[in-house]
Amino acid sequence: MKKITIAIDGFSSTGKSTLAKQLAQHLGYVYVDTGAMYRAVTFFAMQNGYITKDFFDKQTLINSLPYIKLHFVFNPDLGFAEMYLNDINIEKEIRTLDVSNFVSLVAEVSEVRAKLVEQQQEMGKEKGIVMDGRDIGTVVFPSAELKIFMTASAQTRAQRRFDELQGKGQEVSFEEVLKNVEGRDYIDTHREDSPLRKAADAIEIDNSYLTKDEQFNAVLEMVDEVTKSM
Ligand code: C5P
Repeated sequence: MKKITIAIDGFSSTGKSTLAKQLAQHLGYVYVDTGAMYRAVTFFAMQNGYITKDFFDKQTLINSLPYIKLHFVFNPDLGFAEMYLNDINIEKEIRTLDVSNFVSLVAEVSEVRAKLVEQQQEMGKEKGIVMDGRDIGTVVFPSAELKIFMTASAQTRAQRRFDELQGKGQEVSFEEVLKNVEGRDYIDTHREDSPLRKAADAIEIDNSYLTKDEQFNAVLEMVDEVTKSM
């Protein structure tokens, strides 16, 4: 069967990565979590003191971009690829609420976006890829054969993220997580460069009341339809 590009965009914690992983595994496609790349750059900025609660030295981060090497390594035990920053596995470090609190500020920087988008386009050159993020259907792969835009209520999403962080043993309150989800949504939809928006030809899925399986099966049918029509 012909391989296609699947672009999955949407708000924070809408389950984009869960769906993307399921699809990639089932179809034998490569899965790329672009949020992990923005998180990795954010982690680098935090580690070097370029971003703190009080200030953000954007220019120094921009000057450091040539020294930030990002790549994914597939972990067969987990069934997905983990994020490496300058050859160090930082998969765990980038999933904290601290990183979540800064990442949207870093993702607003056009130079950061340009670097990551270029790498993402390179990774998707051969098709057979499922990529999730905020600008995949609009900027990274505007001609993707299938574009999904995922939404769910902020309460539902915050609850999912809260359960996930608690499951990982991180001490957070539901209110903190809700504030983070709403704050990121605001910055992601209002930034000047590549704001989060639904591509005109994307299919919207509100999964507030859908199970993971229902959602997966619905999207799999869409993939079938698209590939048959090619
Ligand atoms: O997907 P995830 O929630 O891990 O993404 C973290 C943040 O990275 C988002 O809130 C957004 O600010 C940024 N991002 C982006 N463009 C992407 C992927 C993520 O701006 N393609």
